Order: sequence, then structure tokens, then C-alpha cells
Amino acid sequence: MEAKLKELKCCLIEVDDLQSAAALLYWDQSTYMPSGGAAARARQTATLSRLAHEKFTTPALGKLLDELQPYEEQLPCDSDDASLIRVTRREYERAIKVPPAFMQKFYSHCSESYQVWTEARPANDFNMVRPCLEETLAMSRQMAEFFPGYEHIADPLIDFSDYGMKASDVRRIFSNLRERLVPIVDAITAQTPADDSCLHQTFPEERQLRFGIETIKRLGYDFERGRQDKTHHPFMTKFSLGDVRITTRSKEDDLSDALFSTIHEAGHGMYEQGIRMELDGTPLANGTSSGVHESQSRLWENVVGRSRRFWNCFYPRLQAEFSDQLGTVSLETFYRAINKVQKSLIRTDADEVTYNLHVMLRFELELDLLDGVLKVADLPDAWRERFQADFGIVPPDDRDGVLQDVHWYAGTIGGAFQGYTLGNILGAQFFASALDNHPEVFSEIEAGEFGTLHRWLKENIYQHGCKFTASELVQRVTGGSLQVEPYIAYLRQKYGELYELPCEESPVSNLD
Ligand code: ZN
Repeated sequence: MEAKLKELKCCLIEVDDLQSAAALLYWDQSTYMPSGGAAARARQTATLSRLAHEKFTTPALGKLLDELQPYEEQLPCDSDDASLIRVTRREYERAIKVPPAFMQKFYSHCSESYQVWTEARPANDFNMVRPCLEETLAMSRQMAEFFPGYEHIADPLIDFSDYGMKASDVRRIFSNLRERLVPIVDAITAQTPADDSCLHQTFPEERQLRFGIETIKRLGYDFERGRQDKTHHPFMTKFSLGDVRITTRSKEDDLSDALFSTIHEAGHGMYEQGIRMELDGTPLANGTSSGVHESQSRLWENVVGRSRRFWNCFYPRLQAEFSDQLGTVSLETFYRAINKVQKSLIRTDADEVTYNLHVMLRFELELDLLDGVLKVADLPDAWRERFQADFGIVPPDDRDGVLQDVHWYAGTIGGAFQGYTLGNILGAQFFASALDNHPEVFSEIEAGEFGTLHRWLKENIYQHGCKFTASELVQRVTGGSLQVEPYIAYLRQKYGELYELPCEESPVSNLD
């Protein structure tokens, strides 16, 4: 059995090498590659991805997994080896269900659709991309059909990114959240909005980036095992556990853009840097779901990085870096500016209170499209109607409406958005657990120290990679299931100090 396990690991590391090489090509494409390289790069990435897929779905690997099953059953299920066999089998079974010819067709459709979208959005022309989107919807349905036995057709697609979650679970969580969130949003947005003009002066890029790098070093992002480069749409990527990179972007007239996207990506990066080295090169060396991954970026970006305690320590440094711009701006003004809440058009610019409404709108539309209740041709109108119902604003055009996010134009319809809100909920829930165990975390943040928090996250979440599913992890860490209560409590506490909020009728604690 030892020999077979070794054989499995050898095969998996070659798959990982191919995937990492493809990731490196993608990173280069998004950071330094001259535009002339685009056509060849698309082909090169596709070739490597295909080779990785072929290698991973070879029947020999399936046979090996079958032979290892009795061995797995003897091991404790949380051991590295049992987890490796279990998680590899899960991914293998998923991968072999989708015919390679379909995948190839789907990828090439996505890159074509993405290309059309990059022209359609600036042109504010939904009809230009509509035929592509109709094809995407048909293919998303086909993709789901490879996994029969679902309750809702979106389930298999949600399962890709948030394993174990069904549309009905997400709906239940979202409706519970919405009910408690909307009164908070309405109360805050009925009051005078914060003045955030202090963030919109001229801030030289070089100094913005320097401040960001110093900040994430303090949080615990390891530059010996990572680096940061500039890109258009920030992301994190990993080539091995010793090389977990992040990207950022800056706007000279918006101080918060680079700063918070840097902290956000560093949160994703610290998660993967914190995975135990023994898992490197295996399918276990990844975050466990998009929701849990996002919980880490949000925890560092919002719960820590937009907190008063954090800025009590970091604001004097920021003022020193930008003395001309912020020298006479008080900490209170700055704090209110970075936590300004407003109903706005763009999801990625939204504050942490209204953000979830953007996600829920997209999630519901995805389900309607997949259900066949909504036609692609009617999507822009449906978007406007729901947007007006939820935000009280009518998007002036499709560019900042239905065309704003890349997701549907470069991937499946279904499964792409729920992770963001699950992440907001889980980030607050994990932070509450960390605080229960280490009340000193608050005073450390105020002193610019993050060691206890970072160690706790590493010990309880990061080190495991994807050995445990999201729900197993939440159970282990918090002793219960996913709950919206800590997130609502966090928002009420933080924003209740800045704005007058209505009392909740009966603040029921639904913690297990
Ligand atoms: Zn993220």
C-alpha cells in the first residue's frame, strides 16, 4: 500500500506541476506580458491545462484510488493520507464526468465570450454579447446535466466552488441574512452619508504601494514566499506553497482602492501560505471552498483593516506618508470615510454593508436563468427591476448594470457569486471564535500586532488546506454550523457606533 500511495503522489505532483506552469503563464499574462503575446499565450495555457486534465483523469489513477480504498478505511479520516485519497477521489470522479471534448468547447467558448464582453461593456451594448451569453447558459445547463440527481440544476455548479452547498442552502442563508440586513442598510442610508473627500485627493502611486506592502508585512504576508505585482483586476495565485503571489492596482485619486485590495489579496495569500508544507504539490494544498477563501480576505480587509482599532495604530503612519493630503484630516473623518455606506451601482466598489445585496441579486438571477423562468434577452430588464427594488436606484445603462461583472461572460452561469457573501458571513464567525479564545486580539490589533490572530487562523483553518470541507471546518472551528448571527452582530456593533440603528425586534441568538 505504501508503494501505491507513493505512486499516487508521484502522479499528482506531475498534475500539479502542469497546473502550476499554466498558473505562472496566466500570472505573467496578467502582469508583464506584452499584448502581442496574447494569441500564443492562450494556446500555451490551454495546452498545459489539457495535459494536466488528461493526466489527472487517466483510468490508471482511478484504479490506483480503488486499490487504495481499503487502506484509506484503516486510517483515521483526518489523517493526511486518508484525506488525500478521499479528496483526490472526489475530484477525480467529478473530472471524469465531464467529457474532455465538452470542456474544450466550453473553454474556447468562454475565451470568445470574454473577448466580446471586453468590447460590449465599454460600448454599453448588451445585444453584442447576448448570443454568447445564450450559449453560455445552454452550456452551463449541459454542464450540470453531467451530474444527475441534483435537487436544483444550479447545485452541481455551486458544488464546484462551494462543495456541499445546494441552491436551497444558499437561499435559506441569504433570506435569513436579508431579513436582518435590510433594516440596517435602510437605517444607515437614510442618514447623511459620510464625507469621503479626504480619500479622493492625489496620492502618488509609489507611496500608496509602499504603504500597502509595509501594512501586509505587518499582518503576516510572507514576502520570502510571495511577491506583489501590478495588474488590472487583482488576484492571488500559487505556484507552490513556497511561492504564493498577489497582485494589486492603484488609482491616484482614490486612496482606498490599492490599500484595501492589497489587504484583501494578502488575506487570500496568507491562507495558502499557511497550508502545511507536507501537503504541497497535492490536491490538499488549496483553500477548501470559495466561501472559506473569501472569509479570509474579508476578515483581514474589513474586520481588521477597516476597524477603528487598526487605524488607531496605522493612521499616524499613513498621515506621515501623505502629510500634504492627510496632515489636517482627523482620524475620525478618515475612519468614517473608509466605512462610508451607500447604495451604489458597482458590486466591487460596494461597502461591506450593502455588498451582500449585490451578491443576492446576482444569485437569484442566476437561478432564474438556469430554471428557465428568465430568458437571457430579458436579463437587462430583470436586472434593472431588481436593482431598483433592492437599491432604489435605476442603473442608467447596462455597462454599470448587467455588463459590470466578468463572471457570466467568462465562465458558467451559476455558482460564481454566492461565495462572496458566504465569505462575509464566515469571516465574522471565525473572527468571533478567535476572539472567544483570545480576547487579547483586540488590544494587539490596536498595538499593530497580529501574531495571535494569524497563528490562531493558521492553526485552526489555514494549515489544513482542503482536508476538511467547509462545513466540517466550520464545525471544528466554531463548534456549530454556519450562522449569520456573528456577522449581523459585527455590523450592528460597528455601524451602531457610527449611525443610529433601529433595535432588532427580538435579537434571537441562533448559535448552536
Ligand atoms: Zn477575494
